[in-house]
Amino acid sequence: MVYLKAVDAYGFKSFADRTTVEFDKGLTAIVGPNGSGKSNITDAIRWVLGEQSAKSLRGARMEDVIFSGTEKRQPLNYAEVTLKLEDAFVSDSKLNITRRLYRSGESEYFINGTKSRLKDITELFLDTGLGKESFSMISQGKVDEILNAKPEDRRHLIEEAAGVLKYKKRKKETASK
Ligand code: ATP
Ligand code: MG
Repeated sequence: MVYLKAVDAYGFKSFADRTTVEFDKGLTAIVGPNGSGKSNITDAIRWVLGEQSAKSLRGARMEDVIFSGTEKRQPLNYAEVTLKLEDAFVSDSKLNITRRLYRSGESEYFINGTKSRLKDITELFLDTGLGKESFSMISQGKVDEILNAKPEDRRHLIEEAAGVLKYKKRKKETASK
């Protein structure tokens, strides 16, 4: 089973300094005062998993995820987050996924340090149930949203969890060629 071992952030939202948050196997609770950056950690995880909506990351434009400076600190030019994943049952199974965004708008993804496409990352996660819209991340309000969803939308969630979505996506891609 693949699990998230650590999140390494630099220049992402409030994380101006390189910050590593480690997760152990089992349950991790993140506590801290209001505005201290708890939600920014889950934003960082969803961002690497391919979140394309600035609004859902609580910003107006995607550049808003880049550290915008404080009274004492200059803004940074890029944000970079790496998810460090490991398979609990396979030794030497490190999987590092990185997303980087420059103020110019240029965006890069890496899998184990090799430049990749967002599509590669999406495909990688469609199998694991760890996608940006999957059940492995349920934010405030999401429970209500799932309960109130239209049947088609709920079906979409179930298909993602079951790993069917990948094949539907490919079928659609092939049909449009
Ligand atoms: P709460 O308990 O209220 O939910 P929280 O711990 O979840 O708070 P976050 O929402 O994660 O807090 O963090 C908000 C902080 O992140 C704010 O202080 C905000 O100024 C800061 N922040 C967000 N985006 C940026 C950015 N681009 N540059 C610098 N700081 C940022
Ligand atoms: Mg919060």
